[in-house]
Amino acid sequence: MSFVVAIDGPAGAGKSSVAKRLAHRLSVRYLDTGAIYRAIAFDLDRKGIPPDDTADLRGALRGISIELREGGVLLNGEDVSAAIRTPHVDGIVSAYSALGCVREALLDLQRGQRQYGSLVVEGRDVGSVVFPDAPLKFFMTASPEARARRRCLELQRRGELVPFEDVLSQIRVRDRFDSTRAIAPLTRPEDAVLVDTSEMTEDEVLEYLERRVRDVLEPEGREEAQ
Ligand code: C5P
Repeated sequence: MSFVVAIDGPAGAGKSSVAKRLAHRLSVRYLDTGAIYRAIAFDLDRKGIPPDDTADLRGALRGISIELREGGVLLNGEDVSAAIRTPHVDGIVSAYSALGCVREALLDLQRGQRQYGSLVVEGRDVGSVVFPDAPLKFFMTASPEARARRRCLELQRRGELVPFEDVLSQIRVRDRFDSTRAIAPLTRPEDAVLVDTSEMTEDEVLEYLERRVRDVLEPEGREEAQ
């Protein structure tokens, strides 16, 4: 039986690495919905199209094709996996992803990924809007400071030295934007398990999620085997 594990939460809560590793352990595909929003924002921004619902923006959206590969994103055939992870894209993505026309255009692409089988999906609205029927939903969060520390380390590993205070203030701005937008704001679905990762290591979070997932999936497996 195929299933969806939906993981939502704010920037820097540690969703990506845990979701990727969880998908690997469960032998299912991993879907990073943030990468799709990043690719759209990256493309519209470089074309000089501002984040407003205009005919220009809608026209450009129709011309964009996104393909998700294991570990990468292709934008009209171009590998933009690294280009969408810059502080610049961090700063512009929320304004584009707040637009209803952008979210609508991306809904089918995200839901369509189900045709390839089970998924671990991460984002901001995957449990509330994209896959509301997912049997397993998590809401991962952490204090803004813990998230900024992790983000700084991640940037450092890529050779980018950004002051902690700048990263922290950008995280706060992005949180506010993502949580207060009118359409599909970042919220914890009622049926999602809250995981505060501030004081947890990545391995601890992974173990916890895997145990919860197996608790739900394995009784079904046993019934099927009978
Ligand atoms: O997860 P990540 O930080 O890569 O997401 C980048 C941005 O994409 C978020 O700040 C948010 O504005 C947007 N996003 C969204 N809905 C999702 C995933 C990401 O609006 N499901």
